[in-house]
Amino acid sequence: MSDEIEREAMEYDVVIVGAGPAGLAAAIRLKQLSADLTVAVLEKGSEVGAHILSGAVIDPRAMNELFPDWKERGAPLETTVTKDRFLVLGPAGALDISWLPMPPFMRNHGNYIASLANVCRWLAEQAEALGVEVYPGMAASDLVWNEDGSVKGVVAGVFGIGKDGEKKPDYQPGLELHAKYTFIAEGVRGSLAKVLQARFGLAEGREPQKFGIGLKEIWQVPDEAFRPGLVQHTFLWPLENDTGGGSFMYHFGDHYVSIGLVVHLNYKNPWLSPFDEFQRLKHHPSIRRYLEGGKRIAYGARAITEGGFQSVPALAFPGGALIGCSAGFVNLPRIKGSHNAMKTGMMAAEAAYSALQAGRGGDTLAEYQDAYDKSWVRQELYVVRNAKPLWSRLGTWLGGAVVMADLIVSNLTGGFSVFGTLKHGKTDAASTGLAKDFEPIVYPKPDGVLSFDKLSSVFLSATNHAEDQPAHLKLNDPAIPIAVNLPLYGEPARLYCPAGVYEVLYDEAGANPRFQINAQNCVHCKTCDIKDPSQNIRWTTPEGGGGPNYPNM
Ligand SMILES: Cc1cc2nc3c(=O)[nH]c(=O)nc-3n(C[C@H](O)[C@H](O)[C@H](O)COP(=O)(O)OP(=O)(O)OC[C@H]3O[C@@H](n4cnc5c(N)ncnc54)[C@H](O)[C@@H]3O)c2cc1C
Ligand code: SF4
Repeated sequence: MSDEIEREAMEYDVVIVGAGPAGLAAAIRLKQLSADLTVAVLEKGSEVGAHILSGAVIDPRAMNELFPDWKERGAPLETTVTKDRFLVLGPAGALDISWLPMPPFMRNHGNYIASLANVCRWLAEQAEALGVEVYPGMAASDLVWNEDGSVKGVVAGVFGIGKDGEKKPDYQPGLELHAKYTFIAEGVRGSLAKVLQARFGLAEGREPQKFGIGLKEIWQVPDEAFRPGLVQHTFLWPLENDTGGGSFMYHFGDHYVSIGLVVHLNYKNPWLSPFDEFQRLKHHPSIRRYLEGGKRIAYGARAITEGGFQSVPALAFPGGALIGCSAGFVNLPRIKGSHNAMKTGMMAAEAAYSALQAGRGGDTLAEYQDAYDKSWVRQELYVVRNAKPLWSRLGTWLGGAVVMADLIVSNLTGGFSVFGTLKHGKTDAASTGLAKDFEPIVYPKPDGVLSFDKLSSVFLSATNHAEDQPAHLKLNDPAIPIAVNLPLYGEPARLYCPAGVYEVLYDEAGANPRFQINAQNCVHCKTCDIKDPSQNIRWTTPEGGGGPNYPNM
């Protein structure tokens, strides 16, 4: 809620929170439809792209619709996919399953390997050329409401509040950006999206959203290891059969290799450390042969939505709409969401344009919901809707086989599945098991060549937050980490946080544990907000410009 502080207000037709593919595609579409519309895009990263982390193999379908001439305009989708490989890994070997029958959408020919951050930088240039106002370094920290309860806009650009909550000499109260429609394009687990979903009951009657954590590095490798256009996905090792996830490796650009591991956040074993699983993955012969002799140049992590069709909330609310991964449109078996993010942004823009032409504003954009219900985005998610629940229930071996058969039938029939539409059931937080029921996992020490520790990794992400500001990671109850999470779950925040933000420290006698939050290291992945078994951690926006400074993730 907006507080009583007096702020200058700026008026727009549409304000968009988040300069990812969804937000930028929406802004561009609005200005393509009418050059007279006033449109602002707010981005919390220090520049557009600084907080974007993706694979990324990009399906150009939405880009083709937005800019049929994107090639002539120089969009950075440079490397076409030339080879698609699927491997099942064991500790020392691999089974190549690329020959197995799969539905065509699982193949990547016709797609492009790219840095999504650079695609967003390019989209922001196109948007600005059309007259969109793009404001990086501006975190939208709060919503502003009309008297009738509809959304009036957002508060952004609050700076200069100290750790103690007092105003510092450089205090700036920020601005209110008012709009006829406010689009929330914050990506996965948006902090404003969470408030809106609760306030308007947008997720009522839907399955809980599901998530994974994706850890990624970029390597620059020697000529002999570089296979431009190679896309490799692996399953199983280093994960156990009952832990969903898999690795990706994409060769693109100037000898770049994107290597990453996605771990589904409904994993049970609280001793699991996604970061350490990722580090040991790189020692596998099927991976290391591409990295040896190369140099790691970037590291980061970000959650990814996995709930798909069953978890998509109601998309429009009075005064605005959820677009992109704030609603969650990732197609899990394809690990692709950027094309759906763009397309939903474009559909919301078209709905807002028609409403504005009719003199409307501040109401619910039912046309956007209708457009989604008839769209190829919905159909794409519908066809794959049972992949996540089957994988979660049956494990990777059996689940993988059943999912593939289900996808083939569903693809041929436009969505028929013998399973109907399966439920996800529990949230990821509720899936966490008790520490006493699992053996602690002993991870190998990093060798400093292929594998690294958390601190040197976070250093590579160039993460930075102004020191003297209120902690943006809030505990609903400060006692819970030590009183509840430590005895029951071994306080898993120490392990699932990919940036070493959470620590349990003991005194010299090894007693009196205390919970420490190193908020300055946070890479804004949102995993703690999702996975904390007590749902006690709330991620809120720090001052704009803080967080990672990813180059080309
Ligand atoms: C590891 C991983 C691999 C993936 N691989 C692929 C792939 O190969 N192909 C593919 O198509 N998709 C892939 N995806 C999914 C894809 O990245 C997402 O679907 C897509 O980025 C969603 O776009 P978005 O615009 O909704 O959100 P995002 O791309 O997350 O952008 C949201 C933006 O909003 C900003 N923001 C958030 N909150 C605020 C706020 N309050 N104020 C101001 N700014 C804010 C963020 O800083 C960010 O820049 C992958 C995702 C992950 C994590
Ligand atoms: S503190 Fe939370 S959001 Fe920040 S890096 Fe750690 S898990 Fe991710």
